[in-house]
Amino acid sequence: MSSTFRAIPSVEAVLGELRGNGSWPHALAVDAARTAITRAREAVAAGSDAPDLATISAEAETILTELARPSLRRLVNASGVILQTNLGRAPLSERAMAAMGEAARDYTNLEFDLDEGARGSRHEHVRDLLRRTTGAEDGLAVNNNAAALLMVLQVFARGREVIVSRGEAVEIGGRFRIPDVLRESGARLVEVGTTNRTYVEDYANAITGETAAILRVHRSNFQVTGFTARPELGELAALAREHDVLLLDDLGSGCLVETADYGVEHEPTVRESLAGGADLTLFSGDKLLGGPQCGLITGRGELVAAMRRHPLARALRVDKLAIAALNATLMAYVAGTEREEIPVWRMLALKREQLEPRARAWAEAAGDGGRVVESQTMIGGGAAPGTGQPTWCAALRAERGAEWLAGALRGGGPPIVAGRGAGEGLLGPRGGAEWLAGALGEAAPPIVARVEAGELLLDPRTVAESDDEHVATAIGVLLAGGASGASQS
Ligand SMILES: *Cc1c(COP(=O)(O)O)cnc(C)c1O
Repeated sequence: MSSTFRAIPSVEAVLGELRGNGSWPHALAVDAARTAITRAREAVAAGSDAPDLATISAEAETILTELARPSLRRLVNASGVILQTNLGRAPLSERAMAAMGEAARDYTNLEFDLDEGARGSRHEHVRDLLRRTTGAEDGLAVNNNAAALLMVLQVFARGREVIVSRGEAVEIGGRFRIPDVLRESGARLVEVGTTNRTYVEDYANAITGETAAILRVHRSNFQVTGFTARPELGELAALAREHDVLLLDDLGSGCLVETADYGVEHEPTVRESLAGGADLTLFSGDKLLGGPQCGLITGRGELVAAMRRHPLARALRVDKLAIAALNATLMAYVAGTEREEIPVWRMLALKREQLEPRARAWAEAAGDGGRVVESQTMIGGGAAPGTGQPTWCAALRAERGAEWLAGALRGGGPPIVAGRGAGEGLLGPRGGAEWLAGALGEAAPPIVARVEAGELLLDPRTVAESDDEHVATAIGVLLAGGASGASQS
């Protein structure tokens, strides 16, 4: 046993090999060599033969390569959810990316008034476009919609009461809970009604001298169906005006166009919310708007102006890149070209017939393991939670199960080192045969799909056509090319 341990090469020896393969910073190379050697010792302790110098050096090289790889990486979203918070929500339009690139590369007039040659305000850049696209008197962009809500409550309701329906005091996602935001803002939550039914009288009965606002929250990730009641926004607006309290509408997705035109259930628009009497309407920039991460606050001029002057406007402000991208995104709506320009709308507008051949090509790449199925693309991001857009998916079956296949396409399969042949790896278990190692190497960028009823579904609607071949190749290597490998181990 101890002679086996002695056979493990020294850090110096591994460094010598690494030096032969390019120039890694010394401290990083030492660190990687030590890690590779530790793993080798663990393998020996577990009963394996000592790996040779070449194997350990290759391991160290892999560690270094992974270190040099950016943490934030592009991936292919075949999950069939258009707006996935975990996958970065809305992809940007070409116009928005170009604007970001330009703003990033050079100095800008971010807070400089070119006409006056004097200090300007970063908030000016999106004001006019927000007014045009929503009909609001004024608008302000902050870091995200959660920040927008926190700020509105803190500025207008701190130390006072805010009335929320029990059916809307909900968790939006990622532990973002309306009652928690209210508490953090220093406002006091007054819940009214029941989970399924809340009437105008419930709000009216709860209004006191302490009431600062009525808050409406769009039920963005669930539906309440059956025996339900919820007042119209206009009824709440009348009540709010009568008692001189604010009506705040957190729309979540914040749509600027009619979703029914895309065959999707009607999603409340910002314009409707404001026209319906909301004093302030809040929404996200990177959901259905299809722009960068930000939170938009639109509504009455004097309220938005008060927010702009508040210290929180500085703390929660957006950077020049987000302003550039938001500006360009809103311009598409002003020009009426959002359906062609903005990826979210382009994806939603794709016809089912356009998607069928793409899904079929993927299914065929899987050989016997694939078929084409009708399915639904979900919008996600808190829009139209109950309905989807009809689509075609490739449905794949693997002997080792859909979860395993999903992992392999993501490049997160069994713990093997990509590109290394079966049995050569330092890392066990060796369940990953040669073909799988190859496939993992191929799956760059990683492909994200979804498991449904024991099958892996890949939806072409959320995949750029330029990635179709990459997906087909990865499927082919995993399922058709590797059919014999799949039954190993
Ligand atoms: C998504 C959402 C939020 C949070 O928006 P972010 O931009 O993610 O901060 C708040 N309220 C509602 C109703 C939402 O759907």
